[in-house]
Amino acid sequence: METIALKNISKSYQGKPALRQITFSFPSNTTTAVIGPSGSGKSTLLQLINGLLRPDAGDIHVYGQLIDYNGLPNLRRRIGYAVQGTGLFPHLTVAKNITLLAHLQKWEHEKIKRRLQDLMELVDLPQDYAKKYPHQLSGGEQQRVGLCRAMMLNPGIFLLDEPFGSLDPLTRNEIHREFLKLQEVEARTIVLVTHDLREAIKLARQIMILNQGKIEQVGTQKEILKNPASEFVRQFVQLQLEDDISYAGT
Ligand code: ADP
Repeated sequence: METIALKNISKSYQGKPALRQITFSFPSNTTTAVIGPSGSGKSTLLQLINGLLRPDAGDIHVYGQLIDYNGLPNLRRRIGYAVQGTGLFPHLTVAKNITLLAHLQKWEHEKIKRRLQDLMELVDLPQDYAKKYPHQLSGGEQQRVGLCRAMMLNPGIFLLDEPFGSLDPLTRNEIHREFLKLQEVEARTIVLVTHDLREAIKLARQIMILNQGKIEQVGTQKEILKNPASEFVRQFVQLQLEDDISYAGT
């Protein structure tokens, strides 16, 4: 079973195409990075997968089933979605932020407590942070809380839209490490939207490059660096990596 499969997906906003005839299956339990210039359709792609948007044409299968637009809450429980900035509720404690969905699902108290502890440990958040409020945490710590929240219900899919975009380089590095660790411990089907090729190379098994709503190339970092499928890919890669020659021989 393919976890996420798109077939001939097109989506326009007020007649202006944002995605054009996208066909692609995301491999299960691995990270695929979606990268491309601003406006190339990355966020639209994610929002189509979690049903926030409906395609004008084409089919989207998630967990082997066509998206049922009358049953979106069910689908969303099985998809972790994290966006840039953390979207944490400022008036709720860290614990409440992370466990909100589980409470709504009427999980047992003990089960919630255990899962909360496990998750905080996994991302290296001290347990006593559970009682803190988001504003008492650094940006990187808040980001980790956001990841814990997205993982709470143990979804098989993560859709991450520039989740590390607002962090300083040091914190970003730290979170990258946590991310890789998590993928080792609890492998998920992850679609990671980023505009940063270095981030994509570091975190993803394969990379999809979008341009003006079309897939220019999908491949491993090696394929994309060594065999760019188009002039656009060649220039895009060159522009992103030109100040770092260490990638040239990868
Ligand atoms: P990216 O995430 O790569 O920056 P988006 O998916 O956000 O790209 O946008 C793709 C195209 O669709 C852009 O031209 C953008 O201006 C347009 N677009 C996105 N969202 C909307 C919207 N809600 N209304 C109108 N146009 C939109």
